[in-house]
Amino acid sequence: MYHNDIYNFKDLPKSYWFSLDTNYSKFLNLEIMSQNEEFDVLIIGAGYTGLSCAINLSEKYNLNICIVDAGVIGWGASTRNAGFCCIPPTKLTINQLMKRYGKDETISFFKNCIEGTNYTKNLINKYNIDCDVSGNQNYVVAHTESKFDKLIKESEIYNKIFGIESKIHNKEEFDKIGHSGNEQFGALSYKPGFALNPLKFYLGLLNAALKNKINIFHKTKITSVTKEADFYIAKANDKIIKSKKIVIATNGFYQDGLIKQIDSRILPIISNIIVTNPLSDRELSLHNFKTYSPIVNTRNLLYYYRKLPDNRILFGARGDISGSDKSHKNISKIIEKDFKSVFPEWKNINIDYTWRGLVAFTTKLAPSIGKIEDENIFYSFGYHANGVSSAPWSGMQLSKLVHGSNYGSLNISRVYKGLPKKIPISSFRKIYLKLVYFAYQIKDLLKL
Ligand SMILES: Cc1cc2nc3c(=O)[nH]c(=O)nc-3n(C[C@H](O)[C@H](O)[C@H](O)COP(=O)(O)OP(=O)(O)OC[C@H]3O[C@@H](n4cnc5c(N)ncnc54)[C@H](O)[C@@H]3O)c2cc1C
Repeated sequence: MYHNDIYNFKDLPKSYWFSLDTNYSKFLNLEIMSQNEEFDVLIIGAGYTGLSCAINLSEKYNLNICIVDAGVIGWGASTRNAGFCCIPPTKLTINQLMKRYGKDETISFFKNCIEGTNYTKNLINKYNIDCDVSGNQNYVVAHTESKFDKLIKESEIYNKIFGIESKIHNKEEFDKIGHSGNEQFGALSYKPGFALNPLKFYLGLLNAALKNKINIFHKTKITSVTKEADFYIAKANDKIIKSKKIVIATNGFYQDGLIKQIDSRILPIISNIIVTNPLSDRELSLHNFKTYSPIVNTRNLLYYYRKLPDNRILFGARGDISGSDKSHKNISKIIEKDFKSVFPEWKNINIDYTWRGLVAFTTKLAPSIGKIEDENIFYSFGYHANGVSSAPWSGMQLSKLVHGSNYGSLNISRVYKGLPKKIPISSFRKIYLKLVYFAYQIKDLLKL
């Protein structure tokens, strides 16, 4: 759907995370598929979803598993996100969820979301992953006064209906514990939640997968999947992989044409991040930026930001609509302007890193976990830019379905189950996106 630049599987994104001292290079000698292979399960996509699904399948059910990734290892969104372990992975409001799925399923959805956050934390502890966890809650900052009123109501629902610990901080209080700035009119906080280094977390999972003897081929793009008797034949690098079951774990990087039942169901959206140079204590004090917890604001086209452990500020927003490297450069400049208008005292701060990646939206506006009818093809995608807490958990849930082959093995909220509807005339996806962005921009201008 986008310019080829964004699907350049050869080169790693120039993210801040890859500039840090990690053990990344030791994984570069992973194999590339070079001969025909056969496995019980083939997982397409080696991000959090694919790795978590594979680790669970291997540890619990002792299956012979292979994961392939089109990119050089760690190429996908799982190593280039902002590291916010936050909830919920949906763009539906609580009211919309209640109307669509009923109160019980909505409560169970939020329970699952919290399980997701805890699952990510448990993986960090279980595999002893040193991934620079920082902050101990999440903040949602009201960018206008009227949005603060909405947050007060939301916090009440979090506490009373979902049993999620949430607090309200008025502007003055948040000035002291969070930050000041032009778009700070008070905040909601909720627990659990934290920030992490997404690359280090990823490498911890990758290490666990390799220790479990899972076969991982990188630089191996699956170009077609066909069926022969009880097997699927996946083609890559002029070779074939034969497997009984297939898992689609490609999220926003899914490209139509691979599995016809999944085509036209994903709207990949570009999310763009900028990172400043490290700020001195004096510079930080100009906006009294205290917290290391992740922050999102209430704009319709929201901003997300956090102070990194080395006192840089990471700031993210929606990206461009083209996907070319040139448009990435242009939008990064616009995002820098936005950042400096939210934090005007930092107008002379330098930006050291910019990068982007694809997140997956769907017509359901919530994640989809399931099995394609009459096939042994399984999927999990559509985390709506919220995969740090939901992708590893969804991968784990998916492993139960892959093993059990029926929904009975999946005791989760109905919100997650099944495919989203197809996007009508999917070749118009970019046009729909332009229209939505335009409408949201107007709403944000009018402070609605
Ligand atoms: C800029 C940005 C910021 C984000 N910030 C946050 C955040 O702070 N918090 C949060 O919770 N979420 C965030 N997200 C979203 C989060 O990163 C994703 O939801 C999550 O990483 C999805 O994991 P995944 O394993 O499903 O997909 P990915 O990690 O994207 O992995 C999918 C893989 O599939 C591979 N693939 C695709 N097609 C093929 C093929 N045909 N053959 C073989 N391999 C294929 C790709 O190469 C890719 O590596 C952000 C995303 C972006 C892009």
